[in-house]
Amino acid sequence: MNRIFIVKFLRFKRANTHKTMKAIIITIGDEILIGQTIDTNSAWMGQQFNMKGISVEEIVTIKDTEEAIRTAVHAALQKADLVVTTGGLGPTKDDLTKETLAAYFGKKLVTHPVILERIESYFKKRGRTLNEQGKKVALLPEDTRLFMNHKGTAPGMWFEKEGKIVVALPGVPYEMKRFIKEDILPALESHLQGQILVHKTIMVAGVGETAVAEAIEKIESSLPAYIKLAYLPNLSILRVRLSAIGTDEEKLRKEVQKWTDQIVDTIPNWVYGFDELRLEKAVGNLLLEKKARMAIAESCTGGQIASQVVSIPGSSEYFEGGVVAYSYELKTALLGVKPETLASKGAVSKETVEEMARGAIENLHVDYSIATSGIAGPGGATADKPVGTIWMAIASKDATKSKKFQLTDHRDLNIKMTANLALNELRKFILKENAAAEA
Ligand code: ATP
Ligand code: MG
Repeated sequence: MNRIFIVKFLRFKRANTHKTMKAIIITIGDEILIGQTIDTNSAWMGQQFNMKGISVEEIVTIKDTEEAIRTAVHAALQKADLVVTTGGLGPTKDDLTKETLAAYFGKKLVTHPVILERIESYFKKRGRTLNEQGKKVALLPEDTRLFMNHKGTAPGMWFEKEGKIVVALPGVPYEMKRFIKEDILPALESHLQGQILVHKTIMVAGVGETAVAEAIEKIESSLPAYIKLAYLPNLSILRVRLSAIGTDEEKLRKEVQKWTDQIVDTIPNWVYGFDELRLEKAVGNLLLEKKARMAIAESCTGGQIASQVVSIPGSSEYFEGGVVAYSYELKTALLGVKPETLASKGAVSKETVEEMARGAIENLHVDYSIATSGIAGPGGATADKPVGTIWMAIASKDATKSKKFQLTDHRDLNIKMTANLALNELRKFILKENAAAEA
């Protein structure tokens, strides 16, 4: 594991010999520091910047005092080309970002009549009157690039000094997001020196990052310096992402595709798709191709799988429905699980999930079924069935397959991971059947 990490790190270093714009994100507000607001702004901005090939060097959260703002911005400018702040642009006393930045850049604050008018009409439209304090929002630094706020009142600001940029945006997430997408990223294009970042994400399910890294080790170590590989695991789904930086988009796309193909050829059964394709969508596509229908018999996942399946538009074409059978009684009454099986083997057993899956095929009249039963935790463990013991089964009209997984100590993770693993088992089951039919 360690070795893999070092290889990745070195490659990252080399890739960085391209002139990469460095950014620091500063989120401002006491409410973030005391845990009242969770800082989602910087996570979202980090994703956006990364996609553009801008390297986020630091994310900092600070109090809303003039001193904290000035110190943090000054320090960030020593290390980064771009500093983006969010928060503290409103009209209240605790909003000090604008005053502090104006002073830092030696700009006077003056009322901008156009913006004042806009804010007045914004208030009028909402049947509110603008008081003196509200008017403070139109008091803005002179000779500064300003961006209109189409979702609120406080404008975004763009300061430049010695080739470095400081952007100040409101803290309200949907206001900030619109600024980044519509104004800031386009304005940054000219500063990115024609540098293009091309991504390709290989979607992998049911296998850990270490196994994948091992399998594609040779490919990874022969990647050219300008292509970076990242492993991004989440709930039994792994994104293997290739990112290439350069100036010739066409060439980058071709190269990334070439390496993507090599990886897929090495681990064909683990890959279920590309570029954020959802697993439930991949399964849905397979069922559509076969004109087949599925149903679900869920115990420990409590409807999570059904919920994921119906999140895909058009799922009614292949999804019949499902049963959440939590108790022994319902497992027997709705799915025909034998009371003897439950009594002798327990609900979390190979025999029970297989009977659940068979029951779904017969009682719900479908071509495929998924069944789950496990100990999600924190209670319910026995000596031979610790928390995280999960059984799942897949059935078709004439076959049943079951599998046991040992997951985590966390209930929520266990439920979500089981849902993904079960969907992936159905995917593999159908693919195997298809392959057998072809042979
Ligand atoms: P306003 O004009 O609404 O006062 P502002 O620029 O002054 O905007 P803040 O007062 O700092 O922004 O934040 C407004 C609200 O936006 C906060 O109450 C919080 O709900 C949300 N918010 C602020 N910062 C963040 C952040 N980093 N992540 C997520 N939400 C945030
Ligand atoms: Mg505020």
